Amino acid sequence: MRPFQSTIPLDDAVAQLAAAVRAIARVETVRLAQLTGRVVAHDVVAAAHVPPFARAMMDGYAVQAADTTGATHDQPRALTRVGRVFTGEVMARAVAAGECAEIATGAPLPSGVDAVVMVEETAPGEGDIVQVLTPVYAGQHVGRAGADITAGATVLRGGDVLLPARVGVVAALGLPALDVFARPRVAIVSTGNEVVAPGTALGPGQIYDVNRHTLTAIVEAHGGVAVPLEVAADTLEALDAAVDVAAACDLIVFSGGSSVGDRDLVLDILARRGQVVFHGIATRPGKPTAFGRIGDVPVFGMPGNPTSCLTNAYVLLVPFLRALARLPAHQPRVIEVALARRVASSLGRTQFYTVRLTAGLAEPAFKASGDITSMAHADGYIEIPPDVAAVEAGTRVSVVLF
Ligand code: AMP
Ligand code: MG
Repeated sequence: MRPFQSTIPLDDAVAQLAAAVRAIARVETVRLAQLTGRVVAHDVVAAAHVPPFARAMMDGYAVQAADTTGATHDQPRALTRVGRVFTGEVMARAVAAGECAEIATGAPLPSGVDAVVMVEETAPGEGDIVQVLTPVYAGQHVGRAGADITAGATVLRGGDVLLPARVGVVAALGLPALDVFARPRVAIVSTGNEVVAPGTALGPGQIYDVNRHTLTAIVEAHGGVAVPLEVAADTLEALDAAVDVAAACDLIVFSGGSSVGDRDLVLDILARRGQVVFHGIATRPGKPTAFGRIGDVPVFGMPGNPTSCLTNAYVLLVPFLRALARLPAHQPRVIEVALARRVASSLGRTQFYTVRLTAGLAEPAFKASGDITSMAHADGYIEIPPDVAAVEAGTRVSVVLF
């Protein structure tokens, strides 16, 4: 055993991680259908007007506004209908004073007119006569060319996240694809002689690999591409081989083997092949956590205990990965409720304590850091600062929801 020399406070770990992130620079071209959630690489300038032509914004009649001045229900203005224009068509002839054209919402305005009278504000007259019952002003119910996006305008900025409406902008410009930042590739390496993939029968002393799957889920939910590797045995050779493959990724996350036992070799491999930035954080769960880099590639060494590993993923990996991916910081939902039962905490360590929301109270749900149900049967967690030894029943707490 090689006990921890010291641990660093959570805030220090968070600050060191924030300082260590290098936002991804790789750019790739992605088809329109896959753009949601991606990050725009360069400013996008509109090559043409949207809409490309002036169009009706109501079903009705395209008119010269001056012809409708003073129109009332009692004294309508009679105009002669000289044509109809539907969407996707262009009217061949111009509309002159005293004339109008029936027009559908979205159809191009015929030349000669400057307004649209809603059909509800008209009445049919004899033959081709249309009675206009209320006046319109020039430009009324008309969408001018470029009203939405003017040619030459910068409509998206490098760094913008492609929310659904921004995907709509790309489509409105007629672009079939766009340059976006690549999603960081995150190698996920579970370590442990006892760890086997679900779907195989367990031998004596073996358990299923949980961390690979919780980490994959987190990575995929926060802008990364998970690259899970085979489980690595607790030998330097196996870890070396894993690093050889994982080093092609933008980030490596080990689980297990990050503590102080003789077979906990992640720290050794980090020290041999790269450098250790920190090892040991004053948190609970999640103390045996290492961070470093191998070449330019940042490396997390997460504890093997599934709840420790996943708590760290929420608290440390998510902010790091999102910054790497150029995504804005995650803003989890937080609710304030009273704690149902007293929770004791260890002085000197930040404690993450999972809770279940029942009957408007936060019911402690933490079992042990090795138990995934500590989190699976919880709705979120409370954070107990290092200088607090217990939180009494009835105290209002902030629950960070998963
Ligand atoms: P370690 O951090 O390697 O000392 O492992 C701590 C505990 O977590 C041990 O009980 C391991 O068997 C368990 N463990 C390690 N890796 C995993 C994994 N990928 N999935 C589930 N449990 C694990
Ligand atoms: Mg292990």
